[in-house]
Amino acid sequence: MNSKPTASMVTTSARPGSASCTVYAWCVIPGDHWDHASAEVGVSSVKADEGAYLTAHLLHLSGSRPFVGLEGADLTAEQARAEAVKLRAFAARLEGLVNLLDAAPVSVTA
Ligand SMILES: [Zn+2]
Repeated sequence: MNSKPTASMVTTSARPGSASCTVYAWCVIPGDHWDHASAEVGVSSVKADEGAYLTAHLLHLSGSRPFVGLEGADLTAEQARAEAVKLRAFAARLEGLVNLLDAAPVSVTA
C-alpha cells in the first residue's frame, strides 16, 4: 500500500447530534442511561472486508470509575498512556520497514 494515511483510516463511531447525555459531553449514548460510553476510535484493517483491528473508547459504567476500554481491557489513564507509547513505537518501527522497502532494489524475483 503506497497511499498516505488518511483520517478515514482512523475510525470513529461518533454520530453528531445523537447524544443526549446530561453527565458527559463525550458520551454518545442517547436517552436515559446510567452507563456512559464515548465514540469508539479504531484503526481500520488493511483488508476491506474486515472491521477495525484496534479499537478503544472511554467508558463509565455505573458502580465503576471511568476507564479506557482497549480491545477488551479496562485501562486507567496511566495504563492507556503506556499503550499509546507502545503504539507510537510500533508506528515508528512500521515506518522504518517502509523506509527499508523504499531503499530495496526493485526486483520481481527474490
Ligand atoms: Zn452518558
